[in-house]
Amino acid sequence: MSLVPYQSQLRWIEDQHQQMVDSVIELALINSGSLNLAGLSAMKQALTELFEVHAAEVESIDLPATESVDNNGQLYPQAVGQALSLHKHRQAPLQVLLMGHMDTVYGADHHFQDCTWVDEQTLNGPGVADLKGGLVIMHTALCALERSPWAGNIGWQILINPDEEIGSLSSSGLIARTALKHDFGLIFEPSLPDGTLAGARKGSGNFSAVVTGLAAHAGREHHLGRNAIRAISEFSVALDKLNGRVEGVTINPGYIHGGGPVNIVPDSALMKFNVRISEPGHEDWFNRQLDFIRQNISQLDGIKLAIHGGFGRKPKPLETDTLNLFNLIKATGKTLNIPVRWKDTGGCCDGNNLAAAGLPNVDTLGAIGGAIHSKDEYIKVDSLVERAQLVALLLMQLASGKKYWANQNTRSGT
Ligand SMILES: [Zn+2]
Repeated sequence: MSLVPYQSQLRWIEDQHQQMVDSVIELALINSGSLNLAGLSAMKQALTELFEVHAAEVESIDLPATESVDNNGQLYPQAVGQALSLHKHRQAPLQVLLMGHMDTVYGADHHFQDCTWVDEQTLNGPGVADLKGGLVIMHTALCALERSPWAGNIGWQILINPDEEIGSLSSSGLIARTALKHDFGLIFEPSLPDGTLAGARKGSGNFSAVVTGLAAHAGREHHLGRNAIRAISEFSVALDKLNGRVEGVTINPGYIHGGGPVNIVPDSALMKFNVRISEPGHEDWFNRQLDFIRQNISQLDGIKLAIHGGFGRKPKPLETDTLNLFNLIKATGKTLNIPVRWKDTGGCCDGNNLAAAGLPNVDTLGAIGGAIHSKDEYIKVDSLVERAQLVALLLMQLASGKKYWANQNTRSGT
């Protein structure tokens, strides 16, 4: 396929390299940990300014608080930041949703706050790959589309949520509603360090188990106490034993808290755990097992067990529409000499949410980088131009009618 009609826009992206690197650094230096509401607000402001050039309809969207469990086993509302949406060409026949998140796993008190060059290709910094680099790629690809003669043939919406790193519980309703208005979705999560994209993804659930027992003096009246730590331990072991029972299901008791002075029989304990499933039917299986274990523990004398939480993300299978989208991107990559491969992963992201809402999507079109969620997080800066060209060419080919996209599900309206 000839690249000639698209060459000037692809070259323009090449010229943006330094600008893109500068933007990534600027965004990475704003701390936007999922619970840092002031930082998220500053991030939203910086993004609004970056996207100003698109002259799109801009909206800041309030999100509902979610329920969280503190160390004492008490439920409390967890407030989150606002989501940011930009919409352009609503009347165009083809509508694409471009998504990313503005939050990171590094809170305001985390020691990792600065960017450092590892070598001239590799920039280390908080969120540079996950997902600030992706936001810059998304923006640059849209700039190229909007500069092209085919601008207006594709309608697009950018949706950036502030709570992806804590499971997108507050933004899940907004994501599901937005998905219905589009034909396909592109999410700018980082790809794997070798550039491979994520194919099928597992589903995920987060749960908290709160045990209440009875306090007593450990010396004088030990027999009157009902030890919550023992109960939560039995519960954790029983859960862990479910591992290996069903292929594709893993259970990870990941946090435990309870007790106090050791001369008191502890009357409260908390355990948080994560469950991954590879098929929708696993959810029911797990819930039945959990119920059985809960009943057993609750029958212990003087012990109460409450479970909070549930499955926030369904598995994302590689269905026909999603596979077609992968193949479209692969063909686009071929014309640019960019190899496009994908493989299944146990991780999940908002691509799971879009898929659950029926929107085919490819969710790792962001920067190439690695060591995400650690102080060694890095981005390969050459991937900024490469990925922006890949996405821009895909959109321009669709807009110019050289490539065609139709999914089996029809969207419900704009
Ligand atoms: Zn991410």
